[in-house]
Amino acid sequence: MEDNIKCISTSCTLDCWDSCSIVAKVKDNKVLAIKGDPRNHVTGSFLCKKGMKHIDMMNHPDRLRKPLVKENNEWKETTWDEALDLVAYRLDELRKTYPTTALLHWNHGGNVGLLKNIESRFFNAYGGVTVPVGSLCAGAGNEAQRYDFGRPLSHDIKDVVNSKTIIIWGRNPMNTGVHMVPFLKEAKKKGAFIILIDPIETETRKLADFYIAPYPGTDGALALTIANVLIKEGLADNEFISKYTLGFEEFKEYVDQFTLEEGSSITGVPKEDILFVAEKYSRNKPSAIISGFGVQRYTNGGYTIRAIDALGAITGNIGIKGGGVNYNNRIMDDYVDYDFLLGESLRKHHRTVTRPKFADFLLTEKDPEVKILFITRANPITQCMDTQKMIKAFEKVEFKVTIDMFKTDTANLSDVILPCRHFLEDVNVICPSACHNYLNLCNPVVEPDPWVPSELWIFNELAKRLNLDNFPIKDHYWWIGRVLKPLKELKGISLEDLKNGPIDIAGADRIPWEDRKFKTPSGKFEFYSTTAKEEGFEPLPIYKPISVRPSKEYPFYLLTPHTKDSLHSQHFVMTGEGEIPVAYINREVALELNLLEGDLAEVYTETGSLKCKIEYSENLRNDVIMIYEGWWLQKGGGVNKLIPEKYSGIGKHAAYYECVCNIKKVSH
Ligand code: SF4
Repeated sequence: MEDNIKCISTSCTLDCWDSCSIVAKVKDNKVLAIKGDPRNHVTGSFLCKKGMKHIDMMNHPDRLRKPLVKENNEWKETTWDEALDLVAYRLDELRKTYPTTALLHWNHGGNVGLLKNIESRFFNAYGGVTVPVGSLCAGAGNEAQRYDFGRPLSHDIKDVVNSKTIIIWGRNPMNTGVHMVPFLKEAKKKGAFIILIDPIETETRKLADFYIAPYPGTDGALALTIANVLIKEGLADNEFISKYTLGFEEFKEYVDQFTLEEGSSITGVPKEDILFVAEKYSRNKPSAIISGFGVQRYTNGGYTIRAIDALGAITGNIGIKGGGVNYNNRIMDDYVDYDFLLGESLRKHHRTVTRPKFADFLLTEKDPEVKILFITRANPITQCMDTQKMIKAFEKVEFKVTIDMFKTDTANLSDVILPCRHFLEDVNVICPSACHNYLNLCNPVVEPDPWVPSELWIFNELAKRLNLDNFPIKDHYWWIGRVLKPLKELKGISLEDLKNGPIDIAGADRIPWEDRKFKTPSGKFEFYSTTAKEEGFEPLPIYKPISVRPSKEYPFYLLTPHTKDSLHSQHFVMTGEGEIPVAYINREVALELNLLEGDLAEVYTETGSLKCKIEYSENLRNDVIMIYEGWWLQKGGGVNKLIPEKYSGIGKHAAYYECVCNIKKVSH
């Protein structure tokens, strides 16, 4: 190695399926290059497009380095002391006057580092505040798998090479979670048959041998119809069902109504295709399902994932090599001291806000009214539904603080912005992803120059000013040692071990539920979930039609998936001058509407409108318009202007895809 060049181990902190291990080459406090760390056998040496932008993001000219305070609607740079004194003063005044739930702390997955959760301990030590529950991401599916299995657990993606049939359901690994692709290709080379189910014919179609496109929001009905075929055609694994599941008879009775005719009419999928998928999945075993988050972005989302899970249990494709219903992975729950990290026992007050109803809550809640908003790791103005309502709600709150690296749409509407570090400048722990079991430490790669603090420093400084008991003023390494105590005790893995690079804490050969001991109350896979019933939901994975269908007024479904170029809104800071969002539309339909490629058009819904540029797509159904989410409002975007506030019961999940729209040409 050339003189003075160091290789430092870290990890991508973006909220992505893959959690790539990274090696950074550093000289004289400059990052020369980053690449994947091949010691992580899943993510290997390559990083995706977003990963390759990390250095540019860290060095971006728009990055904030000094605290900003708004005065007379103008931003003014200030010192850290002044900014923190002001924030501490407002927090102190609030706790003297109101219950501390008059402060709402809004956070999300802008950075998935474990230590970012120290902010929750801060607010619990402060007295307990209003916090979000529910999800804008994967929550409905996580809850669904909690009901069925007791916890979401996925196979290491390497195991897919043992599968003979693979159903990729509503997921697009060619765009997001790209490290799955080499394993899918290897499985295919070994003879696996790949089925893609998605209303959009995504790039992943290139990997698939068979493709079906149900109407948006009908995946649950499709799964229940497949289930009925499996049962009726004698394709079920009766031994697995009788030994390891609960509630099969009730489930069987329920799915009886989902005949091929009925299923085909609900989903728009030909009967023979449904039959083909059922036969392939059950006869050509082991079979894996890899399910995405898109299928649960509807009001019926939780039930949909439950219906998909049921297919794994009916066919005995659970707890075996090459099987599984892979959705998410909560493997770290046993190894982190979340009680200490979050400090929930410290709080004296507590109130929750349902994430997809954020704007509504701010506008209507009176007991007490929200006086301070404190935002971390999130950009709700761009990312929450119904942007106009969100802005109105935001403006109603007296004092807003945002911690961010950039002046995002949310930061821009705040009163104080506190800049923070890029992950290459910070210390953190990245837990295993949905597709592998590597635990990573983010070692600090460079010192920020000019200096900016970590969020831990910010909360330490605020805690000192507020004299908070029970918020230890410590450094990152102390916190890591403390919260990963169970990992040390159960696995013997220490902080020093983690400093050297990624550690596989479970092994690629671990098969979830191999012992068939599920973490449900019955210890079985639960077709009939008493937990769901106790929590106010249907105990069976039922099908409920979504609330909208294309009509004369709004003839298109509006789907807003993730682009491969940005993690939600984060990378749209790089959007160039004059660029505008793109509305993708089926070529034939566009021509009927006299819309040419490059034309300007307004996409509109009952909630709002957005100006876009037209691009044709050969891969879209004729009843779908697609616009990628994440584009900033201040840069001419904001797809959530179009989307009404709706959510699923299970998981309180944002129903982003439950939206219909229309489109018309505009001249400017
Ligand atoms: S965004 Fe995902 S795939 Fe890309 S570098 Fe980060 S973890 Fe890896």
